[in-house]
Amino acid sequence: MLPRAELDVEAAMSAVRPVCEDVRDRGADAVREHTARFDGVDLATTLVPREALADALAGLVPQVAAALREAARRARLVHEAQVPGQSVTYVADGSSVTERYVPVARAGVYVPGGLVAYPSSVVMNVIPAQVAGVGQIAVASPPQPSSGGLPHRVVLAACELLGITEVHAAGGAQAIAMLGYGTRDCERVDTITGPGNVYVAAAKRVLRGIVSTDAEAGPTEIAIVADGGADAAFVAADLIAQAEHDPLAACLLITTAPGLADRVDAELITQLATTRHASRVKEALTGQSACVLVDDMDAALAVADAWAPEHLEIQAAGAGDLAGRVRNAGAVFVGPYAPVSLGDYLAGSNHVLPTGGTARHSGGLSVLTFLRGIHVVNCTEGALAAVAPHIDALGGAEDLRAHVRAVRVRVGETVAAGTAGATGGEATGARSVPPLRHDLVGRAPYGAPQIEAPVRLNTNENPFGPSAALAREISQAAAAEAAALNRYPDRDALALRRDLAAYLGHGLQVPQVWAANGSNEIIQQLFQAFGGAGRTALGFEPSYSMHPIIALTTGTRWIGGLREADFGIDQGRAVAAVADFRPDLVFLTTPNNPTGAAVPLAVIEQVCAAAPGMVVVDEAYAEFARDQDATALALLPRFPRLVVVRTMSKAFALAGARVGYLAADAGVVDALQIVRLPYHLSALTQAVARAALARSAELLATVDAIRAERDELTRWLRARGLSVADSDANFVLFGTFSDRRAVWQALVDRGVLIREVGPPGWLRVTIGAPREMDAFRAALEAVLA
Ligand code: PMP
Repeated sequence: MLPRAELDVEAAMSAVRPVCEDVRDRGADAVREHTARFDGVDLATTLVPREALADALAGLVPQVAAALREAARRARLVHEAQVPGQSVTYVADGSSVTERYVPVARAGVYVPGGLVAYPSSVVMNVIPAQVAGVGQIAVASPPQPSSGGLPHRVVLAACELLGITEVHAAGGAQAIAMLGYGTRDCERVDTITGPGNVYVAAAKRVLRGIVSTDAEAGPTEIAIVADGGADAAFVAADLIAQAEHDPLAACLLITTAPGLADRVDAELITQLATTRHASRVKEALTGQSACVLVDDMDAALAVADAWAPEHLEIQAAGAGDLAGRVRNAGAVFVGPYAPVSLGDYLAGSNHVLPTGGTARHSGGLSVLTFLRGIHVVNCTEGALAAVAPHIDALGGAEDLRAHVRAVRVRVGETVAAGTAGATGGEATGARSVPPLRHDLVGRAPYGAPQIEAPVRLNTNENPFGPSAALAREISQAAAAEAAALNRYPDRDALALRRDLAAYLGHGLQVPQVWAANGSNEIIQQLFQAFGGAGRTALGFEPSYSMHPIIALTTGTRWIGGLREADFGIDQGRAVAAVADFRPDLVFLTTPNNPTGAAVPLAVIEQVCAAAPGMVVVDEAYAEFARDQDATALALLPRFPRLVVVRTMSKAFALAGARVGYLAADAGVVDALQIVRLPYHLSALTQAVARAALARSAELLATVDAIRAERDELTRWLRARGLSVADSDANFVLFGTFSDRRAVWQALVDRGVLIREVGPPGWLRVTIGAPREMDAFRAALEAVLA
């Protein structure tokens, strides 16, 4: 049996419940009466005047003010690191769950009065609430007759220093009830934290269900795990420091060394002679305190885990490793120079920690105390159809038929075709299941269905192939390479990069241009170099699905920011998202796929100015945009972390050759060399791309016709009462259809393949050659008839 003082909160509840109920029923008048009775002051209002706060700070000893400022700075840093980012998990194609953490609107912080005031408690409670983003914070602390009915001046000063403007002179159960139920002076809060005596703890229990609270704080405690090499003077000092808080404080020394136990005893006697609160300390050390002798460090840790102390110090060889093995403790202090006193004030860690063995199941106060996780569920029609059989099964098993119906009423009775095997391979019988990374299990490969349709308008290719003359030139260029295919290609693709730089203009030179197998590979390299484990990327959806998919495969956390209802990006909200999430990579697709519209240059510029990391502007469709001056290439000289991604797959009519490229600061290109595979661009690819670039004028000549066709199609679709998103690209998104899958399938049945992609109800069609557009229009007209 290890010692520990018991706190009988249940017993205090019978005393406290009538006080809380009175405040609930009569509000401020009840608070006033209980304050007069318990605290001996009569206050017309609990609200502390703002001048009193300012006065208190002005009168604070400068060294204490400086120490509180430094404590707040460190605590803020530590707690900022606790804020969980928004995460988006794709559970299947088209089905995601976003976890958003939202702060409570209003929090109440209780600061006890009593004989001594603890301004450090103000810091430890207020900083996590502020960092969590709580809108309003009200502090309550008991009025002191000696301070003219105001709370302790040092508490007021600490509030002022942290920017708290709402302080109430109220203590005990009536203060907790005031915060929980609200009065005319104090609007009710959502969460109450802060230490207090047994009545405060009991009042929090009474209010459970009305507000959330932090853990109940019992008497403080320390366990020190020490070996024979520990400094007895340090150990004794820390035991006394803990005992100084409270005669009920529990202090445990767990050691493998009887000699150390003796030396600590001797030190305690010496140090006690000069300690200030000697009687409290003695009471605690002779009461619920002990020394436990153990055989080895394994046993020491087992004792510590069993006791689950609020504070655990490890003063032994290999303290860092031992700390890593601790399972139950509020906070662990490692080695001789990290005493609990550091944690009480200035470590930056929180000093509001679980006591009484509750460290077995709870942690200390943190930003999470003030945040709630909200799951935001998104699902496309196709994804709902795909999972519907499972809902049929579970709803059936639980006999909740209306659940099943709520799904089937949306996606119909037919079971959607699975994606497995839809990639066109021959059936190969049973497959073994390899040990795939768990976050990839169940995922289908990305890609439009490869269906042999006469009219293919589904992958945003240029419908016009090269002229016979150009095709000849391209094959001659490839043939010239063929004789040297025993050699690796130019690993740096210098000639191709020179041609690409010349094509892009804007004064770009070879060191600022990089090429790869399609812009998809460029994007993958960007993630490999600038994303990865522990890093975050932000995009604005709906957008190109490969951005979040490559984030996933490279272990980068993806944050799906939302576009506005018109699919545009709001400048203020985009900048705020960048400021909130501080992503390592921001993706802006312009013109956007699958919605079509371009992002104004001003928005890109503001995002670049706000972003702490890389900004990737995916301009795969740039050549089709109405405003050819609106390219982010123009911003490159001003933003060294901006990357503009382009491709030869679209306007250049070279999708089959797989050539993508980027322009950025030369330092970015250097960084990408670290992650690129050697010889990633084949000699044939480089030669073909250069042959095409030499005739760029001819290849791009089709762009005007495609743009005109796009605008014509937009008018045609709108004339039929359909919605069409404005497009700057070579496709249009149109809809909306209550069953877009049926429309898509009906078009396939008529020989026209378009893409089921984008927000629910919309379909995307790529602009094809005139005869393909005629076929599309005829098919759609028949389907809509
Ligand atoms: N970015 C966007 C916005 C796209 O739509 C695509 C392809 N559809 C790509 C990049 C990748 O194209 P590629 O790899 O062919 O260059």
